[in-house]
This record gives sequence, C-alpha cells and structure tokens, in this order.
Amino acid sequence: MEKRFIITIDGPAGAGKSTVSKILAKKLGYIYLDTGALYRGLAYKAIKLKISPDDISNLSDLCSNTKVTLKKMDSQMRVYVDGEDVEEKIRTEEVGMVASKISAFAVVRKKLLDLQREAGNNGNIVAEGRDMGSVVFPHADYKFYLDASREERISRRHKELLLKGISAEYELIQKDMQVRDEQDKKREIAPLKAPDGAIIIDSDNLSIQGVVDKIISYINTNQVFTS
Ligand code: C5P
Repeated sequence: MEKRFIITIDGPAGAGKSTVSKILAKKLGYIYLDTGALYRGLAYKAIKLKISPDDISNLSDLCSNTKVTLKKMDSQMRVYVDGEDVEEKIRTEEVGMVASKISAFAVVRKKLLDLQREAGNNGNIVAEGRDMGSVVFPHADYKFYLDASREERISRRHKELLLKGISAEYELIQKDMQVRDEQDKKREIAPLKAPDGAIIIDSDNLSIQGVVDKIISYINTNQVFTS
C-alpha cells in the first residue's frame, strides 16, 4: 500500500512557512494545513467579544462555547469559527498578536489539538505552525524548521501585507515581530523550537522556490519506506 506522509514545517513568524507549504503541498498533491489560522480564528472571536488576551477565565469560556472547524477546499483546509469562514478576517497584525498571546494558554492549545491531529490522520498533508513536529505530529515522516533573520522576516511581512492591501507601518511590524518571537519561544507549553530530528533551513539567502527545492531534494534522497 502506498505510504501516506505527514510533512511538518515549523518556524517563526515571517519565515515563509505558508508560501513554502502551499507550493510544496500543491506539488506533491497533498493537503495544506495552516495551524496558525486556527489560533487566529479564536483570537478573532476574542477581539470581537472584547475579551482581553490575559483574561484566562473568559478565554476558557470562549473555548468551551466556540465551534472551530476545518473544511477542505482546493487542497487547503479552511478555518470556520461558529460556522463563519474567517479566512479573510484573520490576517491582520492585531489578530496575529492576540493569537500569539492566547496560544500560550493550555486551554487554548488543548481546544485545537485534536482538530489538527484529525486533519493529519490520513497523511498526505503538509502541516505548518510552531509545534507541528514537536507536539502535534511528533511521528511525522519529514520535519523541517524554516528560519530567517528577524530583519528579513520583518521586511517580508511588510511586503506581504502591502501586497494584500493591508496598510502596515514597518516600525510597528518590527516591534510586533520582536514581541511575538519572545512570546512564542519563551512560553511554557509547546514553545517554538526546532523539533528533534528536524532539518533546519535558513532562508535568508534563498528564494521561496529555493526553499521548496531544498525540501523536495531532501525528501527524494531520504525516502521513507513501509514494510
Ligand atoms: O503562523 P501565524 O502567524 O498565523 O500564527 C499566529 C500565532 O499563533 C503565532 O504567533 C503563534 O503564537 C500561534 N501558533 C501556535 N502554534 C501553532 C501555530 C500558531 O502557537 N502551531
């Protein structure tokens, strides 16, 4: 029987994970799972309800009373919050920052864990986030950690937001990126780190296609076979 693979791509904000993962999934005919969108979905609702990102009591209620679902569309998993397709509303810096804050809480991570694992159950998936290879899919067939210097990541995020028509000041992104790096790396539960056994790719001097080529080349030369 053909082996169905799980490929994980972890890394800090702005390292190019989403773009790389999308291209990779398309090339392999796999599903693309953006797990940051799940945290952003909960953050989006918290902002709408004016719940402070430090308010653990109201955040716990939010988790109990919110239905987060994933629907497959064009080989991508799309996030729905209480039945609403939130994809277009969750890409702002504000939502990213709140997502980073609330994702430090166990109740939030627990809420989204099974959903992520279910999505990866059947394999043939490229799952991207912060704890894909370390917590969600520790037995993934291929693990990658995509990194880049903070300057490079700020500049990429700035261009990306401008291209999407979202106005964003460079200095604000710079500050947000620094705070998010700290929060994501220093939290107690599922901190951002290169998972055991992950191949680390520094993308500072690589194009998106260069990163994808590196990953494909690694997979091709390190085939995993089933017995
Ligand atoms: O990747 P993205 O920027 O969309 O993620 C938003 C935030 O969600 C991150 O800053 C991180 O704190 C959180 N996140 C997480 N675990 C994941 C994916 C995202 O904690 N697997």
